[in-house]
Amino acid sequence: VEIAVNLNRLKDDLESLSQIGRTPKGGVTRPSFGKADLEARRWLKDKIEEAGLAYRQDGAGNIFGRFGRSDGKVVMAGSHLDTVVNGGKFDGAAGVLAALECLRMIKERKIALSKPLEVVAFTDEEGNLTGDFLGSRAFTGQLNEEDIRRGATQIGPPLKDILAGADLTIDSILGAHGQAPEVEAYIELHIEQAETLDTESIPIGIVDKIAGKHYRWCSFVGKTGHAGTVPLELRQDAFLGLADFALKATRLVAADFYGSMVTIGKVNVLPGSFSNVPGQADFSFEFRSTSKATLRDLEKALFSQAEDVASSRGLVFASRIVDKTEPVTIPERILQAIKDESDKLGYSSFQLPSGPGHDAQILAAVTDVGMIFIPCIDGISHSPQEMIRWEDLEKGANVLLQVLIRLAQ
Ligand SMILES: [Zn+2]
Repeated sequence: VEIAVNLNRLKDDLESLSQIGRTPKGGVTRPSFGKADLEARRWLKDKIEEAGLAYRQDGAGNIFGRFGRSDGKVVMAGSHLDTVVNGGKFDGAAGVLAALECLRMIKERKIALSKPLEVVAFTDEEGNLTGDFLGSRAFTGQLNEEDIRRGATQIGPPLKDILAGADLTIDSILGAHGQAPEVEAYIELHIEQAETLDTESIPIGIVDKIAGKHYRWCSFVGKTGHAGTVPLELRQDAFLGLADFALKATRLVAADFYGSMVTIGKVNVLPGSFSNVPGQADFSFEFRSTSKATLRDLEKALFSQAEDVASSRGLVFASRIVDKTEPVTIPERILQAIKDESDKLGYSSFQLPSGPGHDAQILAAVTDVGMIFIPCIDGISHSPQEMIRWEDLEKGANVLLQVLIRLAQ
């Protein structure tokens, strides 16, 4: 179909959305259900209604704009509006607003389709409240009900109080899955958040796999003692255990699981003073891989490494799971659709995996998903320096447009 997105309109939308929650450093801070996010939600609602699409919000605060019939399996495209603290203006927003522009164009050009289309903005993809993907997990029925009912949040106030500000409740979140339509496919355009496409000057990345990950809180526990009296060779120093493990785990992954990742991002050493041998070291531990089998093997190898370090240093190793996502392989028909449409438009493309998680990964539990990556300059994301080339966004959005028409035909 001879049709293309209106880049100026899409650009204006991205610029005006980026003013909501703008920080002095030029970034965007828009955690879910904060003041800026609520304003962004109203802004999107207005845009959806202006475009003549049918607006709807579900019990988890996920926002939808529909074009076409009200029944039948729906072809969806979107991403998220929330950001990390002092994040950029493209992560999430580019996917939602590109999808909005596609639907607007299809409606204006009166393209006849047999399946309905929806633009979607999922709630709290960045996990500022209770963990990543609150909205898409609610939509697909993958929330841990016990955790949600407990209602603890990372930012302090209980979940129910935060939800009250958006006229939502714990029960409405848990009920979102019951309201969800059947989904034919979900396509998400997103900045790459790495520098492959930018370095290679390729405008279209076709995501073939999305990495799954484990988040754990772990501890090495030894024995606290006086730094001036306990001989070095008799110490059960928990920090040294952690340091030893951090190096060995990284070498292990680099040597035997190349392409997988392992990261210790937060450490708390106790009792935490100049004059005490550390008796305990608590740390965040995450590892990820694009293959289910590798992720399982990786888990086994890392834990046996941790046990080895613990036993050789007189420590005890303990760990508990905090969150977990499954690796996803994108179905062939979606890969092919994105490739064909890129080729027809004359845009170069190639397949690549996604290290970061995305709503598409969560949607994969209920439907066929696909992701179109566009380059971000120097691979920078989650930062005020996050930047794209507008012509790449135009190309990505045009591929999305053609893929949506194809899937909804
Ligand atoms: Zn994102």
